[in-house]
Amino acid sequence: MKLGIHMSMFCKRWTDDVTKYLEPIKAIGFDGVELSLYGADLKALNAVSKELNRLDLDVNCGIGITAETDISSQHKEIRDKGISFLKECINVAVSMGAKNLSGVLCAPWQSFSNGETRSERWKRSADCMTIIGSYAKQKGIQLNAEVLNRFESDFINTLEEGKEFLEMIRLPNVKLLADTFHMNIEENDMTLAVESNMDAIGYMHCCENHRGVPGTGHLSWESLFKVLKAHNYDGWLTIESFVLSGNEVGNALSLWRDMGREPIKEAAKGFSFLNVLRNPNNYVTYFKRCGKILKDLFEENCQKLCQLDAQAGDGDHGTTILRGITAAYEDLEVLQPTVTISECFKSIGYAMLRHMGGASGPIFSTLFIQASIVTKEKSDLVGQDLLSILEATENALFDLTSTQPGEKTMVDSIHGALTALNDMEQAIGWEEAVKVAERGSRQGRDATIEMIASKGRAKYLGERSKGIMDAGAMSCSLIFRALLLAGTP
Ligand SMILES: [Mg+2]
Repeated sequence: MKLGIHMSMFCKRWTDDVTKYLEPIKAIGFDGVELSLYGADLKALNAVSKELNRLDLDVNCGIGITAETDISSQHKEIRDKGISFLKECINVAVSMGAKNLSGVLCAPWQSFSNGETRSERWKRSADCMTIIGSYAKQKGIQLNAEVLNRFESDFINTLEEGKEFLEMIRLPNVKLLADTFHMNIEENDMTLAVESNMDAIGYMHCCENHRGVPGTGHLSWESLFKVLKAHNYDGWLTIESFVLSGNEVGNALSLWRDMGREPIKEAAKGFSFLNVLRNPNNYVTYFKRCGKILKDLFEENCQKLCQLDAQAGDGDHGTTILRGITAAYEDLEVLQPTVTISECFKSIGYAMLRHMGGASGPIFSTLFIQASIVTKEKSDLVGQDLLSILEATENALFDLTSTQPGEKTMVDSIHGALTALNDMEQAIGWEEAVKVAERGSRQGRDATIEMIASKGRAKYLGERSKGIMDAGAMSCSLIFRALLLAGTP
């Protein structure tokens, strides 16, 4: 599946120059763009073409016929004009290196039959489409006829009808453009409609129920992607959203409020949403696995942690941390597959913070909250990330509690992990780093046995705190143990 974006999203007038947006589009990660040929002048298209080549972005072309070029018209001269017009569009698409010409190809946008039967219009349009489609085939262009909702056309409103229409043309390069915005209005079930008509779909427009970018409305993207994957759909998914109201483009699309402030930011939002569905974040399953293991480990060790704490503190550490960990597990279980690594860490941290309370909530959630900050922009984890997370955690814990290594606290376990990782000479992967850190955290934990406590309630024991393992350090090493047992992300 290739992800594209319709460049009209950046236009206030249909003919606005979009060249300056191509570089940011490439930087976001899009595979290509759809360029409207509506009213475009060839000189301007040349400049856009050059920039697309420079950036190595693919291009697809879009167009819509009008009353003057209506190939479904009763008047032969208008139909002939339509055939010439679409052939010319095919030539332009070829000159730009496009493989798809999509859009409102078979009957004009916003025109309705006014009493004439659909079959008569279909027949005339299909005859013309056969001529145009054959021409496109010679030129290596696929035509994708858009299925529109009832408020924009009465020619074809559902994929099923579209497939029936294609039967009258029977050319392998004449397909349907399935647009989620229109499907949401017309289909009983968007996913089912796509599944039943998959062989007829040549191209897709992705946009929310309200025209905003995917992921900001209520459409069922997850089930749609399941079907697309199951059927090995390898065509384009082009975001065709419109964001800014109060201009020619917005007015034409009945956009009466802004769907975002900055189109480029919205484009990035839509891309990352669809990109995760295209390449699901395996980290989410990894974190869910971690959550389950954490819960099991802390249930198993709850009593021991309470006993350790009872010798030096108030004996509730095991139950307190188990409460936080259980809440984290429950929150992880309901995370959407589209969330980022950073959001997974944040989910654990905030659950612990909310459910542990007292002093231990802020302290034990620090590791995960710092991890969430450090991995803000990350889509992958490597060994260096764990090092950065532990450094940030040690600093944050010092800021929060003024605790340093050697004071018989969880910081000793963190510091043990950090020291072990710092001793590594070469760059290592996440899984290997977890292994090294886990070993280090256990060494740090064990070192607390011989230490004299100078923090928390344990400090009142003075010398007598010697010989007791710190419960917090043990909990900390259990967290590393869970990461280790969760295996490869
Ligand atoms: Mg569309």
